[in-house]
Amino acid sequence: MRILLAAVVLAALAAGCAPTGPAPAVDADLAIVGATVIHPERDGAAAVEREVTILVRGNRIVAVGSAIAVPAAASVIEARGKWVIPGLVDAHVHFFQSGNLYTRPDAADFSAVVRYADEVARNKARLPVTFRTWLASGVTSVADVGGPFWNFTVREAAAMSAAAPRVAVAGPLISMVDRAKLDLGDPPIIKTASPAAARALVRRQLPYKPDFIKVWFIHRTGDDLAAQEAIVKAAGDEAHAAGIRLAVHATELVVAKSALRAGADILVHSVVDAPVDDEFIALALRRNAIYVPTIFVMSSYAMALSNQWKPTEAEQRLADPEILAAMGDLDRIPRDKLPARVAQLMDKPPALAPAPAILRNLRRVWDAGITVAMGTDAGNIGALHGPSVFREMELMVQAGLTPLQVLRSATVNGAKVMGLEREVGRIAAGQLADLVVLDADPLADIVNASRIHRVIKDGRPVP
Ligand SMILES: [Zn+2]
Repeated sequence: MRILLAAVVLAALAAGCAPTGPAPAVDADLAIVGATVIHPERDGAAAVEREVTILVRGNRIVAVGSAIAVPAAASVIEARGKWVIPGLVDAHVHFFQSGNLYTRPDAADFSAVVRYADEVARNKARLPVTFRTWLASGVTSVADVGGPFWNFTVREAAAMSAAAPRVAVAGPLISMVDRAKLDLGDPPIIKTASPAAARALVRRQLPYKPDFIKVWFIHRTGDDLAAQEAIVKAAGDEAHAAGIRLAVHATELVVAKSALRAGADILVHSVVDAPVDDEFIALALRRNAIYVPTIFVMSSYAMALSNQWKPTEAEQRLADPEILAAMGDLDRIPRDKLPARVAQLMDKPPALAPAPAILRNLRRVWDAGITVAMGTDAGNIGALHGPSVFREMELMVQAGLTPLQVLRSATVNGAKVMGLEREVGRIAAGQLADLVVLDADPLADIVNASRIHRVIKDGRPVP
C-alpha cells in the first residue's frame, strides 16, 4: 500500500513537472515564445537565456523556461529572433511638467507667450496620453518625486487605468527656497523655514499615503548648512516614523553628504560639482541609499533654452507631437518676448556635454556598490515624458556602465525606488508581468531598448 501510494505521488510530481507532453503543466492566458530573455539581475553569461517561453496567467508570470508547453487557450506572442526585458522603471519624473519651454517659468519665464496656468491645465488634461506615452516607451513604472497635491490624483488615475504605468508619488517639495511663479493655488514647491514647518508639511501629506517625502535641498553661498540639515532631518524623522522614505535633491558634494546625514534614502540627482569622496561613499552605503544620476536633465535646459534641442529618432516616434512642435518655438517667438536668460543663451550657445564629474561619479558610485537607479527627471525643460529614458541610458553607458548594468539600474534597481522590488524588475515566475519585447539586442547597443515590438503591462499587451 505504502509503495503504491509513493508511486502515485511520484507520478503526480512527474506530471506536475513535465516539461513537454500533451497536457501543459501550467495554465496560462498569454505565452511569449522563443525569446532571448535578458535577466538584468544576473551577471555574465547567465544574464542571457535563449529559446525561452514565458507564460503569463492573469497579471503574473507563472513560468519561464526552455521546455515549457504552451496551453492551447493561451494567446501567443511569437518572439523568435526577439529579446525580452523586464518593463523599464523611470525613478525620477514629474507629471505636473511637460518637458516643453513653458513648463518652468521660475527658470525661464515665457508667460508673455504661454500662460503658466494654461501649461498646467494642458498637462492635466493630457494625462491619459502621457501615461500611454510612457508605456509605448517600454516604461511600465515611474516614480514622480514631487509635485502639487494633485500628484496623489495622478497616482489614483494610473492605478484605475489599464493603459498607465505603475506610479509612485511624492507630494509638494519641502524646499529651502520659494518658487512663487509655480503657485497656482496648489504649489509643487513649498518653502519651509524651520524644522517644525518641515514636520508640519510632512504631516499634511501623510493622509494621502505618499510613497516618498521629497526635500529640495538648495544650498547657496552664505546659507547656514547646519540649520538647513536640521530641516531635512526633521522631514526625514517625521517621514521615517510613518514608514515613508526620504528623497532629497542635493547636487553638490557637501549638500549630498548633509542630506545623507539627515536621513536621505534616495538621492534623486548626481553629485555634479566635485568627485564623490570616501566619506560620501561610506554615508551612502551606511544608509543603503539609492543614487539616481539624472544625467540628461543636467544639459536639457541649456539645450532647449539655447535652441539646440533636436529630437532623437525615438522622440520623433514616441513623444507628444505637440510638444515636439513647440520645442521649435524659439525660431518663431519675437526677440522682445524672450526671457533675458534665453536671449543670452541663444546669442552665446552653451556647451551641452555632461560635466565630466557627473560621469565619473556615476562610475565611482556604481563600483562602490551603491544602488544606482535610472531616472530622467522627465517633465523638466527638454526632458520629454517617455523616450527621454533612451537618452539617459545612453549617457549612463557613456559614463562607463555596461548595457547590462544600465538595464539593471532601469529595472531591478528602479523597482527598489518604487518599493516594488519583490514584484517587478525581473523575469521570473511569481513576478508581475511587466515585459518589453524588443526587435534588437539591448546588450549590443543600449539604444536598441527603444526598438520596441510589444509592451506587456500587468499581464496585458498594450495596444
Ligand atoms: Zn526632479
